[in-house]
Amino acid sequence: MKTIYLDNNATTRVAPEVVEEMLPYFSDYYGNPSSMHYFGGQVEKKVVEAREKVAQLLNCDPSEIIFTSCGTESDSTAIRGTLGSYPDKRHMVTSRVEHPAVLNLVRHLSKNGCDATEVPVDRKGNLDISDVEQAITDTTAIASFMYANNETGVIFPIEEIGQIVKSRGSVFHTDAVQAVGKIPLDMKKSSIDLLSLSGHKLHAPKGIGALYIRKGTKLTPFIMGGHQERGRRAGTENVPYIIGLGKAAELVRLHLDDENTRVRALRDRLEEELIKRCPDVQVNGDATHRLPNTTNLSFEYVEGESILLLLSAQGIAASSGSACTSCSLEPSHVLRAMGVPFTYVHGSLRLSLSIYTTDEDIDFTIATLPPIIKRLREISPFGRSR
Ligand code: PLP
Repeated sequence: MKTIYLDNNATTRVAPEVVEEMLPYFSDYYGNPSSMHYFGGQVEKKVVEAREKVAQLLNCDPSEIIFTSCGTESDSTAIRGTLGSYPDKRHMVTSRVEHPAVLNLVRHLSKNGCDATEVPVDRKGNLDISDVEQAITDTTAIASFMYANNETGVIFPIEEIGQIVKSRGSVFHTDAVQAVGKIPLDMKKSSIDLLSLSGHKLHAPKGIGALYIRKGTKLTPFIMGGHQERGRRAGTENVPYIIGLGKAAELVRLHLDDENTRVRALRDRLEEELIKRCPDVQVNGDATHRLPNTTNLSFEYVEGESILLLLSAQGIAASSGSACTSCSLEPSHVLRAMGVPFTYVHGSLRLSLSIYTTDEDIDFTIATLPPIIKRLREISPFGRSR
């Protein structure tokens, strides 16, 4: 059976060039970058190169990048590390639609000596900037707003938010796990202090991430121990994965144009055709301020999970929400925060493309999905007549 992978916001295929670059660092070059002998030197050089490649992708200085184990660790480092550096400031500001890596941490910290304001979003998943402005107080240590939403692809006005946050003397963090590699980012022109990214969303393996820390930003280490990452993140470097992330950063930088032209056109065609062929469907999220690879659709009168199972039987992989929640039948906190009606929330489907998605993949999905929706509606107690 032909397989079509349209779940790239959950994770991506590791690029073959990335695998090739990593392999020798499991077998032949296994030194510790901190070692003084040549085994150490060989790998230290490659870690330096990888840091340069990640820095190039973000247009920042390599000294502003630390490697972590994943996006979640980067988010935790940013938020906990800032609170650790500003003991007199116990307030945080975030949005209601953040990934659990931020939202669950902020909610946990709120029960443990801190407090937080969660800024709402409108029906299209957009923020009202004046709400952000009002949420920040003199005791706000950090404001954390995602760059782009993992479920809908909606892009927040990060620079506008950042300017407000900075003018109020707080640290500005963005979880850019879904944005890096899909849209151009430039830290030299930005107000962002801290930015999280994750390797497995940009064709590197799972288990590697990075945090951009603007020069001069105070940040207490989250993981303490040795002197690695210039004392900012202890633990012997995960050399092969760091090298993999470096290679992936180099590749996505070269593919940014493809992502924003060809992939965007494929996503638009997929969305338009599905809307044409299926009655009672809506796009969730602002259609203009959106990642080029993501569409989130809701089909009324059907269950998202049923769509997923039938698509999967045809070889098409998609998602009904974020990967973390798709194992449960909990309705998406993002769609609920947007005020999407109950009957639409349950029939939501996220299709996320990548540079490996082809015209044929999209043709097949356009031909396969509408009959699935029709069939499900025929057997649904709510949608028999459709
Ligand atoms: N932030 C966002 C927006 C995400 O989409 C994800 C993963 O889905 C994460 C954070 C967590 O990243 P990781 O899986 O690398 O911990």
